[in-house]
Amino acid sequence: MVARQGELFSSDIPEWELDAASSTLAALIAFSEPPFGPFHYRVPDELTLSLKPGMRVKVPLGKGNREMVGYCLAMEVVPQAASRLKPIAESLDLQPLCTGNLLKLVDWMSQYYLTPIGQVFEAIIPAGVRTQAGTRMKTLLTPAPNVAFDPNRENTGTGTSDSVMNGLPTKQRHVLQQLILACEPLTVEQLQKMSNCSSAPIQALRDRGLIEARSERVMEGEDGFSTHANKLLQPPALTADQRVALVSIREALDSSRHQTLLLHGITGSGKTEVYMQAIEHTLTFGRQSIVLVPEISLTPQTRQRFQDRFGSVAVMHSHMSGPERHHQWRRISEGEAKVVVGARSAVFAPVPQLGLIILDEEHENSFKQNTIPRYHARDVALHRASLERIPLVLGSATPSLETYRRAQLGKYKMLNLPRRIHNRPLPEVSIIDMRHERIDPNRGSLSKPLHEAMKETLRANGQIILMLNRRGFATSIQCPACGHVVSCPDCDLPLTHHHEGNKAVCHYCDYTIATPPSCPQCKFSNVRYTGSGTQRLEIEIAKGFPNSPLARMDADSMKKPGSHERTLSDFRQGKTQILLGTQMIAKGLDFPNVLLVGVINADSALHFPDFRASERTFQLVTQVAGRSGRGEKPGRVFVQTYSPEHPAIELAREHDFLSFAKQELEHREKFHYPPFASIARVIVRGPDAAATEAFANVITQTAEKVRVSQGATDVRFLGPAPPPLAKLKTFYRFHVMFLADEPIVLNRLLARIQADLKTPKDVEYVIDIDPIDML
Ligand code: ADP
Ligand code: ZN
Repeated sequence: MVARQGELFSSDIPEWELDAASSTLAALIAFSEPPFGPFHYRVPDELTLSLKPGMRVKVPLGKGNREMVGYCLAMEVVPQAASRLKPIAESLDLQPLCTGNLLKLVDWMSQYYLTPIGQVFEAIIPAGVRTQAGTRMKTLLTPAPNVAFDPNRENTGTGTSDSVMNGLPTKQRHVLQQLILACEPLTVEQLQKMSNCSSAPIQALRDRGLIEARSERVMEGEDGFSTHANKLLQPPALTADQRVALVSIREALDSSRHQTLLLHGITGSGKTEVYMQAIEHTLTFGRQSIVLVPEISLTPQTRQRFQDRFGSVAVMHSHMSGPERHHQWRRISEGEAKVVVGARSAVFAPVPQLGLIILDEEHENSFKQNTIPRYHARDVALHRASLERIPLVLGSATPSLETYRRAQLGKYKMLNLPRRIHNRPLPEVSIIDMRHERIDPNRGSLSKPLHEAMKETLRANGQIILMLNRRGFATSIQCPACGHVVSCPDCDLPLTHHHEGNKAVCHYCDYTIATPPSCPQCKFSNVRYTGSGTQRLEIEIAKGFPNSPLARMDADSMKKPGSHERTLSDFRQGKTQILLGTQMIAKGLDFPNVLLVGVINADSALHFPDFRASERTFQLVTQVAGRSGRGEKPGRVFVQTYSPEHPAIELAREHDFLSFAKQELEHREKFHYPPFASIARVIVRGPDAAATEAFANVITQTAEKVRVSQGATDVRFLGPAPPPLAKLKTFYRFHVMFLADEPIVLNRLLARIQADLKTPKDVEYVIDIDPIDML
């Protein structure tokens, strides 16, 4: 028995152990909640052949034998003494949810992000897959084996033995004959229909043991899987720059080795076309590709382009229902999708023969997950590609400095697309110094030059994109008489006034009240709404340009599924002439008739207490500027700012990524920030400020001890200190920042701290490795 198991799981069990007749097969089971395990459980005989790593099981846990769902990580032979182990109660999956390299990836994530492995499983396997959404159990009926088919006898025409048949009432005999004739399992409903009877004779046959029933899970309903029926589009001939880039990617694909390539191409240089032709090459040897994009629902155009080219594309986006996700997951794992296009979680798509991973707009922060496990899809993609020995292509017009630095060092291969398609010029960017702009209530947030440019553009029938990176109407509600600011009681931050619904909303926790008509403190009746958001801008523009149809795109106006698609398709068809919104409109859109882009406030991201503030501003301005002049007519860009001499803004005007990167890297090196150091952030929170701070101090004390014992002299830590969001959703917060030259040193130190710490009641902490969010 044990030897047979040994064959099955030969990779997990050393040969010498197989002889030991006195050993037991055990499985290592991890949980997604405390205690996380993993723990050993005995594999009962009936599961020895079917249970595999990556499946979920039900097991008893603790003294009360609480029933828990756990993930099977591995099978191991343990000495007989361990047969006191509790047995696994039940296996929940017929197929592993996760196999091979994906299992290894989960393990790596668990170690790198210092997260219990069960929590990683829980996060990467969509809830719809875990609950088997969109399926139901069906009872299937077959004739019992003793109702054997005997071709030598001719009696009822079914070949069934007379003795069995003849002893039956007519009705039951008829039903049994129908089932035998069907030659395939039938549901109760099907058999009733075929033999035109009620369920009673079927039940009687089951009682006699002449019909057997088994349960099986079947899919039901439609799935969201698109296979394109239309003729697929043919690729265009590549430009010389594109060809050079493609040749390098093809070489990497042909080498059957892992390599990361950075495709640094300015906006509109044809990166997407290079991706598509690389995918085509991957298909020639029967392998699938994953394309990761910041947020697929924001870029229906991208998804359309892949569908038009490849037909069977699986799109994974955040608006999918549980059943849709489950169907897609299955079809992807069956190899039906040639290409999977999706946001960060698509990096876990269970494609069977992965040949290539592409991560577009690799600098985007949305690739980092802000909840457990706090992974960055770029780093996970890198690790997956290296496990699979396949290339990873990172693309951007404004690469992150982390990526750019690695390319400079030769760790990644650098590919360049320095020109736009058809040599179209990049738009001319004008900086407007708002310190010298006269306020004119008729123009609202628009400076005179931007206002004039809008009039000119509309007269020439061009389209306009305006970006204001703040939603709502006014960013603060303040009483001019007593100075009171209407704030969130849970976060201590000013509430944003929303014109729609006349409400005041906390943008950090969604706390909402009706906007007070007078000052809540002194009852003064003329409260002031300061700071502009997209709702105010919309009202201003509608008033100033009443004849130009207008659409607003932000998180508030885009709540309904499908609203992005609708808004963007109206804009593409010219039904709307002005599109305004938050950074949502800065990315990836390709509209040839956009001749003017206006940035209302380029400083919104500039003065954040974050070492990446400059980088973010440079990226945002460059990206939104890149939406202009993509067609035949040249485009213009106006950037309004109170910091016109800031290098991030000056260099964005010049479209000069290289100078920006050089300057910013020097700064980062000087202050020892990434990419010249690895960082981790530990955030502590609790309902009591003093207790929270005290525990934050325990963390730094523990860190100091561990640092000495590990000889990790290059690790520095800063804090504890209150972060910019010192209170959030009623919790007080403190953070400690850890920096080290090498990620592995940091990892070892934090793992030790994590093991040594005893968290008091009412205080929680999280470790954020390679944090993006510093608030
Ligand atoms: P990027 O992803 O770098 O912003 P895109 O791939 O979207 O650029 O290309 C910009 C535009 O140029 C798109 O409309 C695309 O269809 C078109 N395009 C790309 N490559 C070619 C080519 N080789 N010949 C003609 N048009 C192209
Ligand atoms: Zn709040």
